[in-house]
Amino acid sequence: MAAAALAGCSDEPVRTTVTPPRVTLPENAPLHGSAPTAAPQTAAPATAAVPAAQDAPPVAAAPPTSVSGAGPAPLPQVKNVGDAEGARLLAQRALLVPVAGIAPASLSDHYELARGQRVHEAIDIMAPTGTPVVAVDDGRIEKLFNSRAGGLTIYQYDREAKLTYYYAHLDRYAPGVREGLEVKRGDVIGYVGSTGNANPAAPHLHFAVFRLPQPPKWWEGEAVNPYPALSRAAPAAPQVASR
Ligand SMILES: [Zn+2]
Repeated sequence: MAAAALAGCSDEPVRTTVTPPRVTLPENAPLHGSAPTAAPQTAAPATAAVPAAQDAPPVAAAPPTSVSGAGPAPLPQVKNVGDAEGARLLAQRALLVPVAGIAPASLSDHYELARGQRVHEAIDIMAPTGTPVVAVDDGRIEKLFNSRAGGLTIYQYDREAKLTYYYAHLDRYAPGVREGLEVKRGDVIGYVGSTGNANPAAPHLHFAVFRLPQPPKWWEGEAVNPYPALSRAAPAAPQVASR
């Protein structure tokens, strides 16, 4: 499992003889960063089920800070919790594992893996293509974004718009998912895939959490290590209802 997990988010170019070579970026290209200068809401048709591919926004993520102690909740110790305030907020949430049928105990900490010149700042959850991806928390689908690195992605705000949950490499969105949609924890919002720079031989969900600035901007935030909270999250049932 560890070897398979490490295969996620490969920074090797994708090569396949089955489909034409796709445009890839190494994962040191940002999955999440500053948006282009144009207003982000006008960058893609809001109603498109599959928004047009856009260049990945330029890098602006702050380097992760090393903090020990994630907050009041008894979470496992990790080398790097990421943003301390974000970690404190995340520790207060009762999350679901975002991939159906995955046991929390099977997850491992991928936050500090090197991805080219940057740090992963996310967790990869390996699962077959088409496995349902569920909302980890109640909140709102803020942005559907198609980036070269992340492929089909969802930015979901929590109820208070203090955290954003980022789901990447989706094969497709769940029917009815759109920007502005209010979702409940456990709602199916998409399906595992390998869009973007993921290795097609190792489909997975790349899941990240960011603490939002106030007022919130979906393309900005301080990275938070999702592993401690997910390691004690409730599993999502293998048979989750489709939307
Ligand atoms: Zn990843």
